[in-house]
Amino acid sequence: MRRALLVALCLTSLALAALVTVAGAPGQHDAGTSPDVHAPDEEEPMDEPLSPDAAATEAAAAPTVEAPPLPACVVADDPAAATSYDDWRVTLLDTRYALPESYEPPDLVAVATAFPEGSIAAGGGLLRALVIDDLRALVADAAAAGHQLAVQSAYRDYRYQVDTFQYWVARQGLDGAIATSARAGHSEHQLGTALDLRSLSGPAAWDVDDWAATPEGAWVVANAWRYGFVMSYPRERQELTCYAYEPWHYRYFGRELAAQINASGLTAREYLWAFSHDQPTTAAPGAP
Ligand SMILES: [Zn+2]
Repeated sequence: MRRALLVALCLTSLALAALVTVAGAPGQHDAGTSPDVHAPDEEEPMDEPLSPDAAATEAAAAPTVEAPPLPACVVADDPAAATSYDDWRVTLLDTRYALPESYEPPDLVAVATAFPEGSIAAGGGLLRALVIDDLRALVADAAAAGHQLAVQSAYRDYRYQVDTFQYWVARQGLDGAIATSARAGHSEHQLGTALDLRSLSGPAAWDVDDWAATPEGAWVVANAWRYGFVMSYPRERQELTCYAYEPWHYRYFGRELAAQINASGLTAREYLWAFSHDQPTTAAPGAP
């Protein structure tokens, strides 16, 4: 149970941190619909931050949260819970839950700041400043391992996503577009913490059979979590993630949470859903 308790505490401290930072956040969005995220009763201080390896070990324990069943991937336009700009780690978006049109993070910076000066690999996009240091480390370490990464797409505002979705409707039809592209408001790209990667020498990753099978994509699969990134839509998880396999699409969660998600074996959507219903379990029979 100690492991289980630690996992619960990690989740608890995240909830507290989110709530504390939300309280003083300027310019935050208030969707007014966050009944599912609440302060837990406990106020135990968190242990020292876990190293990624330690976090991975602890998070390998069985989940200790009791969440309602993961909702089906219905197509709707319900407001997402937790849409303050300080909630970037935990805002859950899918085919049902969406950001408001006005959601535009205030700290967007050029992706190029994560790349060597003059690099064409950065593309022309924007990401939240809080992503940049770890993206820089990911790109540099990939390069040191012989893999040149590039950014295909980063932040997309609501209006841009309208056009992006229409592009995929034209290319794939409505059903295909719903499976492979987010409607406006539903895209993690609007968070400013999600990006699409590709190989510098290759085409857009969605024009590759399976980018995760390329040397660059395979390196990212194996290592992204160490830098705080998680593949949002892994293979054969469409019923859980609501979207078809996208080996190029990664969302930044920070190193600690990414390590926990990675170690849990859950998709990020499952993990966030459990988090947003963070309820300590009633003790299992016979548990101390
Ligand atoms: Zn993407």
